[in-house]
Amino acid sequence: MSSAIVTRFAPSPTGLLHLGHAYSALFAFEAATRSGGHFLLRIEDIDFTRCRQEFEAGILEDLAWLGLEWETPVRRQSDHRHEYVIVAEQLRVRGLLYPCFCTRKDIQREIDASGAAPHGPEGPLYPGLCRSLSDDERQSRIASGESFAMRLDLNRAIAEAGDHLEWMDLERGLQRAQPEILGDVVLVRKDIGCSYHLAVVIDDALQRVTRITRGVDLFEATHVQRLLQALLSLPTPEYHHHPLICDPDGKRLAKRDEAETLRSLKSRGLSPHELRRRFEFA
Ligand code: GLU
Repeated sequence: MSSAIVTRFAPSPTGLLHLGHAYSALFAFEAATRSGGHFLLRIEDIDFTRCRQEFEAGILEDLAWLGLEWETPVRRQSDHRHEYVIVAEQLRVRGLLYPCFCTRKDIQREIDASGAAPHGPEGPLYPGLCRSLSDDERQSRIASGESFAMRLDLNRAIAEAGDHLEWMDLERGLQRAQPEILGDVVLVRKDIGCSYHLAVVIDDALQRVTRITRGVDLFEATHVQRLLQALLSLPTPEYHHHPLICDPDGKRLAKRDEAETLRSLKSRGLSPHELRRRFEFA
């Protein structure tokens, strides 16, 4: 038998779970329990602009209906905001983050003007407007009350962490991290004071997750998360980015697809057993 692994399912309560989430949750649960390991649930609710308490309650209810059991207490990211802020501040002090005052409009204007902005998997990369501001200018803009995000200075980060970072993906094999495909990502958002990338890396290490299972839609995120692990001297788990569940037309399911929420499938008589069979977990 393989050695015991620790997996997690980390939903954001911005909507109800759909079939794709059910697959992902079962995938993580099965991997952990088959190895005699642990399955964790983590509520990723730092984005208070989109997360809602009733969705969190619905998620817990749906996961229990699916037959999943998880360790308690469940880590809820909104209870740990200060921890992410402390780590971001450490990165800033090391010169790895810089304040970015740009609005979306500023960024778009710069991209339009430059003609050939490099593109990443999530769209055009940040063109670097605020990267080279002087310290004096930064201080005076902050003092005048301008709002700002904090971005990772990718070149400095790579210079510190090295450009030969790797991770093992159980679907695709050994991967070399290429954080440059995402550019200077935001690690501290203007509105919420932290970010998904930062919180997820800190939590996975803190919770001693040894295998991160999640949809292949998050594959690219792993490039920057691997870099953050190196910068923060955190261990690198193995990864299993699984295929996404699609609707009968081959379209990826989204939270807005009401018809495919577990709640609606449940009300139409679907049983957890049928679902497991459909996913071939039964
Ligand atoms: N919270 C993320 C989501 O709901 C998942 C994060 C992860 O698995 O790394 O899409």
